[in-house]
Amino acid sequence: MIKRRHTRAIKVGSVTIGSDAPVSVQSMTNTITEDAVSTIKQIKELESYGCEIVRVAVNTEEAAKSLKVIVKGVEAPLIADIHFDHRLALASIDAGVKCLRINPGNIGGKEKVKEVVSACRDKGIPIRIGVNSGSLEKGVLDKNSGDFALAMVESALKHVKLLENESFYDIKISLKSADVLSTVRGYGLLAEKSDYPFHIGITEAGTVFSGAVKSGVGLGILLYNGIGDTLRVSLSGDPVMEVIAGRHILRVLGLRRGGVQLISCPTCGRAEIDIASIARDFEKVSAKIKSDIKVAIMGCVVNGPGEAMHADVGLAGGKEKSVLFSRGKMIGKYGNNEILAALVKEVESLTGEKTASDS
Ligand code: SF4
Repeated sequence: MIKRRHTRAIKVGSVTIGSDAPVSVQSMTNTITEDAVSTIKQIKELESYGCEIVRVAVNTEEAAKSLKVIVKGVEAPLIADIHFDHRLALASIDAGVKCLRINPGNIGGKEKVKEVVSACRDKGIPIRIGVNSGSLEKGVLDKNSGDFALAMVESALKHVKLLENESFYDIKISLKSADVLSTVRGYGLLAEKSDYPFHIGITEAGTVFSGAVKSGVGLGILLYNGIGDTLRVSLSGDPVMEVIAGRHILRVLGLRRGGVQLISCPTCGRAEIDIASIARDFEKVSAKIKSDIKVAIMGCVVNGPGEAMHADVGLAGGKEKSVLFSRGKMIGKYGNNEILAALVKEVESLTGEKTASDS
């Protein structure tokens, strides 16, 4: 059982972050924010896969204007990602976002910090301080002898102080580096000095495969040690994959429930059916299932039936026909070209949910 670190709680719209709230999954759009139609479409897609908070880059006045339309077209609370320009932060607040990601040390002085803080306070909007090892302020890395973890912590605490000087405490913090061990060590050090909730992630983690592995390791270590209140898996690819990966990580650690737990065999010389493509196709069509369900896809009758019988739904591959089990009972034998459809149908029947195979 994982014991979560004690933190304050903040609210990003309807989503609580920190304290006892479940670790939430977020992602970031990669559409052009000025293009409200495409951005709304992508956010809705992310929502359908269980994304709870969505971050949007706001780098122009046009993007801030577009936010007004986007906010109205989606359910998930939005975070405006701002760099340097406090006017874009004010415009985003005005547009209705529920959180800002902005580093107060980078927006041009005390008066501008005051303005942003005052607007956030009026609307009950928290600020995420997001320190990235690639954009640390001048001198902080040298001062810490090139130690990225120490430098990120020092930088984060400086930004925090600027907000606390304005009596603003509605804060969450992230420390991101592409280096997993620096990131893990940085969060660990910061956790000893701060009780603000943490957004965790490994930045620029890589492609869907390598990035998911890297994030799984980094976020897995942090979460197992009770650190992390909301997460983003950063991947070079479709942000939907970030949401799926994030949910997987939380489910593996027992921090969230819901969705398909897939058991599929690695196949070997005994395999009598193309398990890899069945598992891949099944995973694709079942990614939006919200109910807890264990599905086993096994290649032969040696180890297959045991696993298949212990899952909610399972198949054990045979030469021309494969056997389908539901809740421990054999419910039929199907030709290998119809077994996937039979498996999907049974999953839909047990969960009462539709898979993407129907769309
Ligand atoms: S279930 Fe059968 S095919 Fe799959 S790895 Fe085990 S022995 Fe091989």
